[in-house]
Amino acid sequence: MKNLKKESSQTGKVYLVGAGPGDPGLITLRGKYLLERAEVVVYDYLANKKLLAYVPDTADFIYAGKKGGGLHAFTQEGINQLLVDHASAGKKVVRLKGGDPFIFGRGAEEIEELVKAGIDFEVVPGVTSATAAATYAGIPITHRDYTASVAFVTGHEAPGKKESNIAWDKLATGAGTIVIYMGIKNLPIITRKLMDNGRAPDTPVAVVRWASTPIQHSVVGTLETITEVVEQADIRPPALVIVGEVVKLRKTIDWFETRPLFGKRIVVTRTRDQASELVAKLEEHGAECLEYSTIHIEPVDDYQLLDQALQAMHTYDWVLFTSLNAITYFFKRLDEHGLDSRILASSAVGAVGRATAEALLSHGIRADLIPEKFTGQDLAESLIAAEVQGKNILLPRALRAMETLPEMLGDAGAAVTVAPVYQNRPPAGRKEELRLELEQGEIDLLTFTSSSTVTNFLTMVDAANATELKNLLQNVKIATIGPITSETARSSGLRVDIQPDKYTISDMVQAIVKHYRATGP
Ligand code: SAH
Repeated sequence: MKNLKKESSQTGKVYLVGAGPGDPGLITLRGKYLLERAEVVVYDYLANKKLLAYVPDTADFIYAGKKGGGLHAFTQEGINQLLVDHASAGKKVVRLKGGDPFIFGRGAEEIEELVKAGIDFEVVPGVTSATAAATYAGIPITHRDYTASVAFVTGHEAPGKKESNIAWDKLATGAGTIVIYMGIKNLPIITRKLMDNGRAPDTPVAVVRWASTPIQHSVVGTLETITEVVEQADIRPPALVIVGEVVKLRKTIDWFETRPLFGKRIVVTRTRDQASELVAKLEEHGAECLEYSTIHIEPVDDYQLLDQALQAMHTYDWVLFTSLNAITYFFKRLDEHGLDSRILASSAVGAVGRATAEALLSHGIRADLIPEKFTGQDLAESLIAAEVQGKNILLPRALRAMETLPEMLGDAGAAVTVAPVYQNRPPAGRKEELRLELEQGEIDLLTFTSSSTVTNFLTMVDAANATELKNLLQNVKIATIGPITSETARSSGLRVDIQPDKYTISDMVQAIVKHYRATGP
């Protein structure tokens, strides 16, 4: 590693950043800013891997995980050396640690080594897992009526140890709320110690595993019972132990694990660009989303039809947009020709639904027609009702798509030009992972937001026959965005359980929530 030094004359710096307790939304803005500029990132077992998405692809990613009991990827000395070496080579190094780096995180030890080596550093605090676990379990760690003090304690050190750093005799009754990190292994000894030193055996205790994540699991007992409760529920590290009267408030305040989709694992099959809205909305209700981008949107190879239409734009009475991608790729092509939305000045514009109408507005176009129900068929019917006989209609859309809309308009006497502006391609990769999740019965729900997500999903799963497909999806529910997608699903042998009355992402999510509220956890 010594030779790294010569590679650069810049001065490096180490940023010790708290990743927060688990939910990637709980990192600080400063932390995110630094990740986005990192050249090397050294991360821990407890730091959520999703945060690494902020780091430029060109950075070095180094896993320095230390998992209780398991194999250590690096020793503490090894990690210290790693930080020193990369910073000496002039790199911006982000050392990402779970929770807060200075709370039972050995952050100070790493900094001491940097100081010795004369390396510049900064420390960014994080939301520590103790406060997050309490909050996400519905427990305020302080409360005027119950406690005025709180102690953070490590349970890693066996209380029986001769030269213990923890004064259990003073702690037992000296602190109102006691939060114990790394306390699962020693839980029987810890609770015994607290009771022996005067804490009432009926003091409420909560144990919270993987706080603030979709797999959070909390249990409640008393000092006397919690060891058994934890054993029965098979709670393993990482978990926090919260001791004190405030635990009683969980009954009233519990909010995280009670959300309607909590504990549900939902497959979102969308294009990469469009998945975020659905995922955000499902997560809001507590779901864990597994994003499989089954379709990949690409420009078409040949824009001849669209280019011809653009040259004769004034001859079109209507231009219809039936998807967000059609809008994106239509305007992209305009841009490539040095044109803009003014080309649509003499045509009326139809949008299939609210989202497409909004996307058009962002290009300065107010749709003249949005059908009541958001389907292509409905769009055709609305247009036909307004008379299309002899009208010229341009339909920029996917290379392969349902022919219903152009056929209906053609039958009603319109001259329809279909101009492909984008195409769907099933991407490679992650097939096996999806298949495995299904085989292991770890998926609760599949979501389909268009017919092509159904067909591409089926391609990814690659079932040998109908029986195998049925077996794989035995306990899996299916939600679609609307009747056309449902039809595609049904004709492929899938059973549709959830479909909203209105065909938008919001309505789809509402329908899913309603479904699970009705069927219970
Ligand atoms: N610096 C970290 C703590 C590291 S010590 C912080 O500030 O949170 C590791 C211990 O933290 C674990 O054994 C567990 O007790 C606790 N911990 C960390 N993340 C946790 C989480 N998401 N849920 C429950 N406990 C967690």
